[in-house]
Amino acid sequence: MNIDFSRLYGNQTLLTMLSSKMEAASFAHAYLLEGPVGSGKKTLAFLLSAAICCQSPHKRPCGECPSCRKIYSAQSPDLYTVALDGLPLNSSKDIPESIMDPIPNSIGVDIIRSLRSDIYIKPNDLDKKLYIIAHADRMTEAAQNALLKVLEEPPGTAVFFLLCENRRNLLPTVLSRVQQLRMEIFDDETLHSVLTKHDTLARETARKDDTLLRRYIKLSGGTVGRTLRYLQSTPKELRADTLYTAYENAVLCLDTVFSDDAPSSSPVLQKRKGLSRPTRTELLRYLATHAGTRDAMRALIDQLCSALRDLTVCIDTSEIPLLFYPQAEQPSALAERCDRRRLVRTCQRLSALRRNIDFNANLSLLQAELVQTLFSIRARN
Ligand SMILES: [Zn+2]
Repeated sequence: MNIDFSRLYGNQTLLTMLSSKMEAASFAHAYLLEGPVGSGKKTLAFLLSAAICCQSPHKRPCGECPSCRKIYSAQSPDLYTVALDGLPLNSSKDIPESIMDPIPNSIGVDIIRSLRSDIYIKPNDLDKKLYIIAHADRMTEAAQNALLKVLEEPPGTAVFFLLCENRRNLLPTVLSRVQQLRMEIFDDETLHSVLTKHDTLARETARKDDTLLRRYIKLSGGTVGRTLRYLQSTPKELRADTLYTAYENAVLCLDTVFSDDAPSSSPVLQKRKGLSRPTRTELLRYLATHAGTRDAMRALIDQLCSALRDLTVCIDTSEIPLLFYPQAEQPSALAERCDRRRLVRTCQRLSALRRNIDFNANLSLLQAELVQTLFSIRARN
C-alpha cells in the first residue's frame, strides 16, 4: 500500500509518521492539528480522511474513487464539519480566519451536542464517520466538556480532527485524549523553494517577478496557504503593493503607539522623513494619505490583527510561530508593556472596525477610531 500525501507541501516528518501509522493500521481515533492560518491543517485533515476511507488498492488517497470524491467535495453524510461561521467545510474552501472576523466568537455547546447525536448513527456510504472541527480552540468550556464525553469512549467508527491555532485554549482533559500534531512553518528561503518546486503559479511568478513572490512569502507568516492566497488574488501587482504598504503602515502605527517611552529604531520609521517619532495627529495625517482607500484600510487592519496576535503569543510564552514579527525578540519587549486582555479586546474592536468599512462612508472617521483603538493597547496610558 502506497500512502500518497503529495497534496500537502513540506511537513515531511509528520507525513512519514502518519504514513507508517496508517500502514500499520494503528491510526488514532482523534488528532489535534495545530498551526496558524494557511499552514495546511484543513488540507491534512481532508487528506487523512480520504486516506482512511479510500477504496483504491494501489495508493491512498487516490483522489478518484467514490469515497475520495465524496470527501473532497464534502458530499457524504459521514463527513461532519464544524466551523465558526456555521457553514460546511470542503477541501477547497478556505477556513474563515478567526482572528480577522471573530463573530461568532466561539463554538457553543449546542453545536457539539448535535455532533454527538450524529456519532452513534452507523456510517452510510463511507467506512468511517469523520469529524473535522475547525477553530477547535474556540470551543467554549461547556462545548469542550461535551466533546470530551465522545472522545473518551468513541464508537469504533468515529475519527476526529481538531484544527486549532493555539492548543493552550483547550482543556488538558481534551488534549490528553487526542494525538497532538504541529504543522510545519517555513522560513522564507525554504518556502520559496517548496513553492517553486510544487506550485505552477508560484513557479511562473518567480520567473516573471521573483521580488513579488518574495514579498508574498514575507507577508505569509511562513505558510504555503497564505502565499497561495496572495498569488491567486487579482489584480496581482496591486494586491502585492497594497499588502506591503499595509505591512509598513502597521509597523508605523505600532511604533507610534509604543514610541513615547522608547525612540524607535524601526527602518520604516527611519524611512519616513519627519516622522521619526510621530504623534497621534501626525499618524492620522499619514494614514489619510497612505491608507486612503477601503482596501488599504482592510489590509492595514489585517496586518495589525496579526501583530496583536503575535504579542499575545509572546505573553503566553507559547512556542507557536509568529505571523507579523520576523523574530521573537522584537514583540517580546513590546508584549511586556501590554495587558493580554486589552490586546484581545483591541483585536476584537479592530475586527468590528473592519466590518464597518463597507458600511461607513467616512474613512477619516474610521482612521481616527483606528488610532484611538490602537492606543488602548498600552497597559499604562
Ligand atoms: Zn480513493
